[in-house]
Amino acid sequence: MPGEASTLTCAGCGTAPGPPSDDPYPFRCRAQREGDDIDHVIRRTLDAGRLRFPIEIDENPFRRYRELLHSWQIAAANGMSDAEYVTLVDRLDRAIAALEGRGLRETPFFEADALGVRLGFDGGSIWVKDETGNVGGSHKARHLVGVMLYLQVVERLGLAPGGQPALAVASCGNAALAAAVVASAAGMPLRVFVPPDAEPAVLERLRRLDAEVVTCARQAGVRGDPAYRRFRLGVNDDELLPFTCQGTENGLTIEGGETLTWEIISALGRLALDRVFVQVGGGALASACTHAYLDARSLGEVDRLPRVHLVQTSGVYPLLRAYERAVAYLEASGDGTNVDLAMLHARTHRSQFMWPWESEPRSLARGILDDETHDWAACVEGMLRTGGTPVIVSEALIAEANTLARETTGIDVDYTGSAGLAGLMQQLARDPSLRSERVAVIFSGVRRGPTQG
Ligand SMILES: [Zn+2]
Repeated sequence: MPGEASTLTCAGCGTAPGPPSDDPYPFRCRAQREGDDIDHVIRRTLDAGRLRFPIEIDENPFRRYRELLHSWQIAAANGMSDAEYVTLVDRLDRAIAALEGRGLRETPFFEADALGVRLGFDGGSIWVKDETGNVGGSHKARHLVGVMLYLQVVERLGLAPGGQPALAVASCGNAALAAAVVASAAGMPLRVFVPPDAEPAVLERLRRLDAEVVTCARQAGVRGDPAYRRFRLGVNDDELLPFTCQGTENGLTIEGGETLTWEIISALGRLALDRVFVQVGGGALASACTHAYLDARSLGEVDRLPRVHLVQTSGVYPLLRAYERAVAYLEASGDGTNVDLAMLHARTHRSQFMWPWESEPRSLARGILDDETHDWAACVEGMLRTGGTPVIVSEALIAEANTLARETTGIDVDYTGSAGLAGLMQQLARDPSLRSERVAVIFSGVRRGPTQG
C-alpha cells in the first residue's frame, strides 16, 4: 500500500498524529498536557530515499516544490492525482490574484552590488531575497498557502468533519493580511485577534477582505501578548483552526515557508551561501529557513549548510536567553557537540528556556516584537547545527539598515523587513572577515507609510 514520503511527529514528545482519516487536523500535538513543560511542535520529516529535490522550473513555488509538501503526499497516498492537486494550486492562485493583483510567484533573489560596496565587501557578496512584492507584501502568505492547500486536500478527500471550519490568527500586521487574503481566496471565514494599537489601514484592509476583527486589550499585571492569549482560547474552546505563522500552533505552517529558501537554493545551484541573517519575531521564518536547508541536504541538493544568524532587537530578545542556556547545557554535558542531547533537554524543560519578555516590547521593527519566540526550539537547533549565533541590534542600527537597504536596492522594505541586514551590519563590526563571504538577507515586509521606515 502506498504511504506518504513525509511523516509528522511531535519534536517535543515524539508522538505521531494519527492518519488524516482519524485526525484530519494534525496541527498541534494531542499529547500536550497543561504544565508538562514540553515544547510540543508538530514537525514534518521527508523520506529522502523516496524523494528528490525538484529541478523543474515553475514560476509558482507551490507547483514547483509540491512533492515536498505534506499535503501533496497525503493527496497522493489517498488516491488524488497530481493533476487534481495542481488544479487546487492553480485555483487558489487565480483567486488570490483576483484579490491582490498578483498570485504566487517566485520572488526576486539577486546579488546586491551597491549594498556590498557600501558595506566594504571584498571578495564576498551580499544576496537579497525580496519578499516585499509577494502576496500581502511579505513572505507570510507562503506559510498560509501551505496550510490552506492541506485543508483543501483533506476536504477534497472527504476526510474533513462536516461543517465549514472557521480559521483564526493573532496578528496586527503582515501575518493577518496574508491570512485574510488566502482565507478570502479560498472562501473560508477568518477571525483575526489584534492588539488595540493595530494600524487603521491594516484593519480596514482586513475588513474589506471579510475577516472578523477582534480587538484585544492588554490587561494590567498579565504578561504576554493579549491577542495571542485570546487566539489560544479561541483555538482551544471554540474549535477555530489555527491559520497562523507559528509552528507551535500549526506545525504544517513551516513547510510553505520553506519554499522561500528552496527558491534561493534552486537559484544558486552549486554556489553555497556562507551565512544567512534572518530577522526573528515568532521564529517561523527562521524555522522554515533552517528546515529548508536540512531537507535540501537530506535530498542531496546542498552539501553544506550556511551559518544561520538569527536577529532580534534590543527591545525584545527572548531567543538569546534560550540559545545561551542551550549552549551552557551543551558545555556542562561534557559533549559539546551533542546537539540532539541538548535539544532533547531543552524541549522537555521549556520553562527554563523560553518565557514571555518581562516588559512591553517596543521597537521600530514592529513585526518582530513577539513576547515569546514561539518557534524558539527550531531556531536554537538551527543555530547550533549550523554554527550560527543570535545577533541583537540597537534601534539606531535598525534605522540605519533600513535607510541603507532602500537607498542601495530601491526596495521599499519596512524596518522589520530589513532587520536581518541590521544583524549583518552588527556582525560585520565584530568580524570584518565576513566581507569575503557569500551572505544572504531576506527583505520581507513592504513599507506601508512613512512611519514604517
Ligand atoms: Zn508532543
